[in-house]
Amino acid sequence: MKGKLFIVGTGPGAAEMRTFRMVEAIKQSDVIVAYTTYAKLIEDLTDGKEVITAKMKEEVFRAKVAIQKALEGKIVSLISSGDPQVYGMASLTLDMMCKNNVDLGFEIVPGVTAALAAAAKLGSPLGMDFASISLSDLLIPAEEILHRVRKAVEGDFVIVFYNPINKPLLEKAMEIISQYRKPETPVGIVRSAYREDEKVIVTTLAEWRKYEGIINMITTIIVGNSQSYVCNGKIITPRGYERKYSLELSNDS
Ligand code: SAH
Repeated sequence: MKGKLFIVGTGPGAAEMRTFRMVEAIKQSDVIVAYTTYAKLIEDLTDGKEVITAKMKEEVFRAKVAIQKALEGKIVSLISSGDPQVYGMASLTLDMMCKNNVDLGFEIVPGVTAALAAAAKLGSPLGMDFASISLSDLLIPAEEILHRVRKAVEGDFVIVFYNPINKPLLEKAMEIISQYRKPETPVGIVRSAYREDEKVIVTTLAEWRKYEGIINMITTIIVGNSQSYVCNGKIITPRGYERKYSLELSNDS
């Protein structure tokens, strides 16, 4: 008898940011496969289940184990933080299943990704088109990443940086952005969104380096576009309503 594979996003951390379906999937599962830290974040749901943990760079191992356990007939949840599409386990696992002709029922369970969690803490920086770029050069060469940064900034996209712990690459990326955008462009730095040691900083392209020390493995950075501004400590990227409407509260038009 075949099992089932859930590829599940747990959201940014706090239990109240989980989806209902995510909790259901984990409760139904016999086996949980997770990176060690994420296993801890869902400990309250995994009592009595087989929990297989692995370290950060063992994604391929985790995907293989999850597929094998499901093929043995188990119901398995393979865990990603945030959303499993976004630099998570979904594409690797589906890729592996496709290339090995694995016939297995699966379900991708979406979650609140770090970009959205960080954006919520910063105000509304993602009000217009945005590009998400991972600064991890473990799988993608640094040059390719910087090429994407250049194209995103040329297109005036708001830019969300995942994995900014690679600080030399982060500095290069910010230098490229500074060639196109003004020094007062808002920059939001969010560490551990919806977790215990959460930190939210609103700064600018000229000043962000002051906060380089707080950037760690669980930090997301959002750089505004040419229209983004700061009001009452929050970043706002206008959608463009002002081109057509008056935003004055007293004006009905
Ligand atoms: N699948 C995840 C991303 C995994 S890549 C998601 O959808 O969110 C890991 C990166 O995600 C980290 O380097 C960081 O940039 C970001 N991240 C994950 N959780 C975060 C959190 N709680 N607060 C801020 N950034 C976070």
